[in-house]
Order: sequence, then C-alpha cells, then structure tokens
Amino acid sequence: METTKTLKMFIAGEWADSQSGEFNVTSPVDGKVIYKVPRGTREDAKRAIDAAYEAKEEARRMPVYERAKLLHRVAQIISSRREELARQLSIEQGKPYATEALPEIDETAENFRIAAEDIKRLDGRIMPSRDPQKLILISYEPYGVFSVITPWNYPFLIPSEYIAPALAAGNTVVFKPSSYVVGSAAMLVECIQSAGFPPGFVNLVFSDGDFTGREEVGDELVTNSKVAGVGLTGHSSTGEIVSKRAGMKKLLLECGGLGPLIVLDDSDLGRAAYAAALSSFSNAGQVCCAAERVIVHERVYEQFVERLVSEAKKWKLGNPLEEGVMVGPMNNEPTASKVDEHIKDGLNKGAKVLLGGKRAEGFPTRLYYEPTVVVDVTRDMLFNQDETFGPVAPVMMGSSDSEILEIANSTIYGLQAAVFTRDIGRAFRFSRELKAGQVLINESTLYWEPQEPFGGIGGKKSGVGRLGGVYTIYEMSNIKTVVIHTITNSP
Ligand code: NAD
Repeated sequence: METTKTLKMFIAGEWADSQSGEFNVTSPVDGKVIYKVPRGTREDAKRAIDAAYEAKEEARRMPVYERAKLLHRVAQIISSRREELARQLSIEQGKPYATEALPEIDETAENFRIAAEDIKRLDGRIMPSRDPQKLILISYEPYGVFSVITPWNYPFLIPSEYIAPALAAGNTVVFKPSSYVVGSAAMLVECIQSAGFPPGFVNLVFSDGDFTGREEVGDELVTNSKVAGVGLTGHSSTGEIVSKRAGMKKLLLECGGLGPLIVLDDSDLGRAAYAAALSSFSNAGQVCCAAERVIVHERVYEQFVERLVSEAKKWKLGNPLEEGVMVGPMNNEPTASKVDEHIKDGLNKGAKVLLGGKRAEGFPTRLYYEPTVVVDVTRDMLFNQDETFGPVAPVMMGSSDSEILEIANSTIYGLQAAVFTRDIGRAFRFSRELKAGQVLINESTLYWEPQEPFGGIGGKKSGVGRLGGVYTIYEMSNIKTVVIHTITNSP
C-alpha cells in the first residue's frame, strides 16, 4: 500500500516549501492521494530563477569534462534506482511497469550519457576568410538560464531531453513539471542533485496550474527577463501562448501531433497492423507521435481492419504494475473526457466502433479506457482535426496515393508520420511529400532514438526546434563568432 508523501521544491540547492499551501496528487491506478505538494507561486518561481541566474557564471566556466563527469554520475544514479523510479512512474502516470516504465527510466539515463559524450566532442569551426590575415572562429556558448516546462505523459524522459543537454552546454535550469507528475520530477531532481551539481544549477518549482487553469509559475518562467531560453513540451495551444509571452527568448517547443500511419496496398499487412496497434495503444495512446489516424488504401482496407482488430484484442488493459498488462489507466480525467468526446462525435457523423469505445468497468478509477478501433472515420470528424490522445485507432480510407497524401497533410500538425509499402519509389515519394518532422518507413509512428533530431516541421503547429542528442545542445547554445586580425605589428 502506498502512503501519502509530502514533496518539496528544490531552490538554490535546498529542498523548499511554499508559503501558499498545498495541493494533492492522486494516482490514476487506484485514485488514492499519493502526494501533498507545495503550491508554488510566482514568488517561488522568481526565487528559483534568481538562483539559476546566480549560478550561471559558475556553470559557464565549469570545464566540459567536469560537466560530463557529473552527467555520467546522474546516469549511474538513475540506473541504480531503476526499479524504484519505474514503479513510481507507473503509479503516478499509469504506464505499464515492465513494457513502458522500465524502458523510460533506461532512456532517461541514456539521455544523460549521450549529453555527457556529445559535449566532449562539440567541435567549433575555423571558417575560411576573404582576408588571408584573418581567422574566423566559430564556437558554442551557453545561453544562461533555461526554463524547462514539461507535460505528464513522459515524466522522466521528456525533462531529461532538456535538462541533460542544458547542463552539458553550460546552462542552468529552472524546471516546472506538469501538476500531475510532480513526484517523478522530484525523484529526477534528487538523482541530479546527488550527482553533485552545485547549488542553483538545477531548480525545481511546482504549480497547480494544470488543475486550476491559472499558470502563474509557468508564466514567470516564460516572461522573466533573467531567463534566456524556454524549452516546453505541451499542447500546441500552450506553445502558442508561450511563444507570444516569451518575446525574444530562445524557444524550443515540442507540441502536438496527429500522426498519420499510412497503409498502402502493397504493404506487409501483418507488420502494418502490429505497428498500428503499437502506435495507438502504447502509453494508452497518450503520446505526441501516436498513430492518431490510420489511413488505409481502399484496396486493402477490409483485410487490414480485420488484422488490426485481432492485434488490438491482444492489448490487455489493467493495473500497470501487474505482469502481462499492456495498457494502464489514462493519466487524468480531462484527457479521458476528450476521448469520450471524439468517439461521440465520430459516431454522430457515421463512424463505427469495432472494438472498445468506452471506459472499462470494474476498475478502481474511471480512467481505464478499453483499447478501441473505430472505422469509417472521415475528415470532418474531430479524430482528423485534433489529438484524441487516448487508446484509440481511428481508421480512414483513401482511394489513391495522392488522396492519402492529401488527407495526411490536411491538418495543422506535422510531427511524425509512418508509411507502409514494399515499393521503394512510393516510400521516397511519401517521405518527400509528407509534412512531418520525421517519416518512418515500415515502422510504427512511435519509433525514435534518443540521439536523433525530433520535432515538428516548420510552418505548422507541432513546434519549433529539435530535441535529441547533440541537436538539443546546438539549440541550447549561442553561436559565438570571433574574427581575429592575425597581424598586430604592421604599420
Ligand atoms: P499542456 O500544454 O497542458 O502542459 C504542458 C506544460 O505546460 C505543463 O507543465 C503546464 O503546466 C505548462 N503550461 C500550461 N500553460 C502554460 C502557460 N501559459 N505558460 C507556461 N507553462 C504553461 O500539455 P499536457 O497536457 O501536459 O501534455 C500533452 C501535450 O503535450 C499533447 O499535446 C502532446 O502532443 C504534447 N507532447 C508533445 C511532445 C513532442 O515531443 N512534440 C511530447 C510529449 C507530449
């Protein structure tokens, strides 16, 4: 049985309370209160920013090899607490322990290792000059204070995607997690703190903004003039607010997706159906790069749907700590209600539910959603306009490659897309024409590797900039150009 734990924020190297009371966080698994959390205020955010600002010169001057050593130590500490962190992640977020929580902890540790190694090999450049007496040197410098604002779907992994490269690049950090997953954030910061980073390098502030709709802590992190850059993963609407409020700060925004997974008529239907189920039901569908739309060529529509339903039936719903469970509860009620709304809208407009389509009975909370397959989805439905963000595979039909491409590109999003085909020419055409930051051929939309660049395509609403490996270090560094006139004693 879990007991309720009281959390603290972490400011200037000290665990700190807030002056303005507490809020509760409940587990989606059984509905019990697991944390009492200090309700951070704008003043707390300012204190955390001041601490990061004070520490920024020390961070800038810390030798790269020293930074790398501390980052490796964070990775070791995370790995040594692997099972404990994963269990906490399942209880707080709801994802299955064995198949998703443990891998998330492993990838979090890996992000610290990658940042440690990348920073040691971050070459600058000497650029050819028009003047033979000059040297042009190009190097990377830290920005200073980076705010890191994160969602609830990957409570360890996403913060690590920002914090590890920020520290590697010599920045200091103020970190504000989603109100739903503060316990995971506190544990991650414990791991960073116990590795030996000096006070002020990483600060943690909480907020109940996701419960109240008033996000003053986040707003301070975005608007304070001592903050040089903001990294945020969240809804596209949040990204838009933040980009307006941030002014001329460096922005790194990772927002929503409406991932098409496309099944052409020459594809391996078994592999495509397996990948579609994986892409729709992992993390109960609460993934930015989930298959939010499965678009199938009309010639293979019937056969594919049959295979998808049989794959979907394998996804066992239940307590995420139990062996064999592949889908846990959804994380929170607003997200589950949005799934209800999308299904209702689809049914009203002519879609059919072949499997699931409702919340499951007999569980301790209302957040257990049956893995769902919906067919005959059309462009006018919410499924094709906004993220459903639940364990739903909405299937659409297209009659030609051109029409499929047109449906795929018809939304405001452009994050991740997958195409199943055996024809190399078609694979290249789709990868060229799809408006997405990443295109996967014969692979699920959920595939990414931590060292690769990940993010939304420019001109749409899935975000700006790239996360992943050395690309985040570039994003979190200023490019400094130094021009040297090499002859100083000439007449
Ligand atoms: P959200 O936008 O509600 O919240 C994200 C974070 O922003 C939270 O910490 C929240 O408190 C904070 N926030 C909200 N309003 C703010 C404001 N005005 N100023 C500053 N901070 C503010 O998103 P969520 O529900 O936590 O997460 C789900 C969303 O995240 C989905 O849209 C999903 O697609 C997206 N996401 C994107 C990626 C990616 O890599 N592109 C990855 C994971 C999740």
